[in-house]
Amino acid sequence: MSQSLTQLFDLDSLLTPEEIEIRSTVRKFAAERIRPHIAEWFEEGRLPARELAVELGSLGVLGMHLDGYDCAGTSATAYGLACLELEAVDSGIRSLVSVQGSLAMFSIHHWGSEEQKQQWLPSMAAGRAIGCFGLTEPDHGSDPAGMRTRAVRDGGDWVLNGTKMWITNGSIADVAVVWAQTEEGIRGFVVPTGTPGFSAPEIRAKMSLRASVTSELVLEDVRLPAAAMLPLAQGLRGPLTSLGEARFGIVFGAIGAARDCLETAIDYAQTRQVFGKPLAGYQLTQAKLADMALEVGKGHLLAYHLGRIKDRGDITPEQVSTGKLNNVREAIAIARECRTILAANGITLEYPVIRHANNLESVLTYEGTSEVHQLTIGKALTGSAAFR
Ligand code: FAD
Repeated sequence: MSQSLTQLFDLDSLLTPEEIEIRSTVRKFAAERIRPHIAEWFEEGRLPARELAVELGSLGVLGMHLDGYDCAGTSATAYGLACLELEAVDSGIRSLVSVQGSLAMFSIHHWGSEEQKQQWLPSMAAGRAIGCFGLTEPDHGSDPAGMRTRAVRDGGDWVLNGTKMWITNGSIADVAVVWAQTEEGIRGFVVPTGTPGFSAPEIRAKMSLRASVTSELVLEDVRLPAAAMLPLAQGLRGPLTSLGEARFGIVFGAIGAARDCLETAIDYAQTRQVFGKPLAGYQLTQAKLADMALEVGKGHLLAYHLGRIKDRGDITPEQVSTGKLNNVREAIAIARECRTILAANGITLEYPVIRHANNLESVLTYEGTSEVHQLTIGKALTGSAAFR
């Protein structure tokens, strides 16, 4: 964050020296390795994900808040700060890291057998193996309980059939954590993507998260051994707990995208001349910048506070919902407001603002839409569930 924004909220006083160091390392990597190429990757709708995954693995950010199995075992706040710095460059990069670490690796780490952990976690932490997380289906997004993907026992095996939709990392994954209905309720399965009957066609023509791989997962009589089931996850609590982990990273990440938009707008307003003087010198512009700075600062404070609660070990899903709802909603509003300051230049990929705004459309939708988080918070406030 620019010096003035940091000073305004004295944010660094809330972090440990180790967290500040981790943040600097990730910020430097993002600035040097990703920022110079990201507009081109976005425009071309591609991501050198395999290469990047290995580099992100060396950086230590894949599954960084997990313990053991070659994971870094940092604080949740440090993980959040890494998400913030990655998303300040592009939400697609943060998505790669979130899905790998918080959805795929966390599911195996939290719900898996010792054998599953040994088999997958060290190579995923190193970025040699990429993971994805298949919960959403074409007809069941916000309501995953209605999923149609089914796993049926056949002798000692499981046979999976169904279709998952909008799956980040799907086409490049080595392993998919797939959730399916069984006779005993929803269960999770660790599916090596080379298993016969598994395919993952990429979804193209997206106008958001273009530097991120999004895919369909098709499972046609995918036969797996009994040991492929995640033994400790039973019912929707399994995938929902994993989603809570990734959602936590988004609370931080979204505010990184907002920060980048605001910093861009401040710089731009100082050099752009309108009616004979810099745009930054007009009261209307300063009112916009001041209001946005308040939201960026408040978003950081909320993220850091939730980080401390998570580090203490007793964060609730409703608390994570407050962070996701607020920070993503404010981030997209800030991206759009910054775009007005850049005006015509703001619609091009020469500046990051429209890219962030478009990316945040996906961030607003995945990991629980704003409406779903409003309903979650509404239920916490009233005791009355209004989901159906
Ligand atoms: P729907 O559930 O059809 O919702 C449509 C609208 O109805 C929304 O506005 C919603 O808020 C609203 N709505 C829903 N329920 C209610 C209600 N009770 N009351 C009022 N309004 C309601 N999924 C995965 O499993 N793994 C991934 O890796 C993954 N990556 C993704 C990447 C991208 C780029 C995108 C866009 C999505 C990804 N998703 C992934 C899917 C994502 O989680 C879903 O899109 C999301 O849950 C919403 O589901 P839906 O799109 O089917 O919308």
